[in-house]
Amino acid sequence: MLARVKDDDSSYDEWHAEVRRLTNERDAIILAHNYQRPEIQDVADHVGDSLALSRIAAQSSATTIVFAGVYFMAETAKILAPDKTVLIPEAGAGCSLADSIDAAQLRSWKAEHPGAVVVAYVNTSADVKAESDLCCTSANAVEIVAGVPVDREILFLPDQFLGAHVQRATKRQNMHIWMGECHVHAGISPQELREKAEASPESELFVHPECGCATAALWLSGTGDLPAERTHVLSTGAMLERARTTRAPSVLVATETGMLHQLRRANPSVRWEAVNPRAECVYMKMTTRDVLLTCLREGTTEVNVDPTVASRARRAVDAMIAVGTSSMVGE
Ligand code: SF4
Repeated sequence: MLARVKDDDSSYDEWHAEVRRLTNERDAIILAHNYQRPEIQDVADHVGDSLALSRIAAQSSATTIVFAGVYFMAETAKILAPDKTVLIPEAGAGCSLADSIDAAQLRSWKAEHPGAVVVAYVNTSADVKAESDLCCTSANAVEIVAGVPVDREILFLPDQFLGAHVQRATKRQNMHIWMGECHVHAGISPQELREKAEASPESELFVHPECGCATAALWLSGTGDLPAERTHVLSTGAMLERARTTRAPSVLVATETGMLHQLRRANPSVRWEAVNPRAECVYMKMTTRDVLLTCLREGTTEVNVDPTVASRARRAVDAMIAVGTSSMVGE
């Protein structure tokens, strides 16, 4: 059963048809992040994580990209597709994680650790990417960090939970972690996860590494407090891959609740349940039907990145794309 949100069928169908007509008229494609509202996901040309969508933006023959997501994602698409017009339907759609560090703060941090390699998660502004050596996704963060020579210090930013996961996996001692967090993922607690897992012993657990419970989930599965064979720390792309093959009758999902829509589409026979049903990203939900329609009618809001910043940021993003291309998935 797909969770489509509709006022009524006729107005939904009219809206859907008008969005598609305007999209064709503009020679555009709509890219929607996995955390968007179900109806925005359903009207989009492609749905996925931020990096996969940016790569589609770069490869598409369309001249305009409508990025239904948050601002740093549209910026990343512009960095990878500088010749295209990139529109974001809601320019005020920020990200508490990306906003936890700016370029000036990063420059000060770098000055305290001269010679350190800066590894930035893709959830960062273009200005911060331009100050970084390597970008990473949640899928390849361990591989990226493991590839840095052991004698080089690492500054990992901005997510403390993903950083803790990577440090644990690589056993890296000379790694400093920025204490940023996503308010949505930080709100999914280890206690909630344990209680839900105990109440549903037949369920698998899918945990995003940005979650407040992710590091605890790994630790608890190691100590036997959570069933190790049922606990999987997965990026959103990896969640979808596993959704198609799981044999579990139900799965508890610890990430933003918009992800449930794609998981249900990938495998409708499984009962998908949020660990925390209140884990909704207010920024992602800013793109409503009306907002998307206005964007397509008026061509608002165009996203631009200063060419010098874009070319420096692109070096870090290209380094990320070069590692584990086949499994490139982020938030
Ligand atoms: S869910 Fe968190 S990390 Fe993702 S866009 Fe929203 S605030 Fe940012």
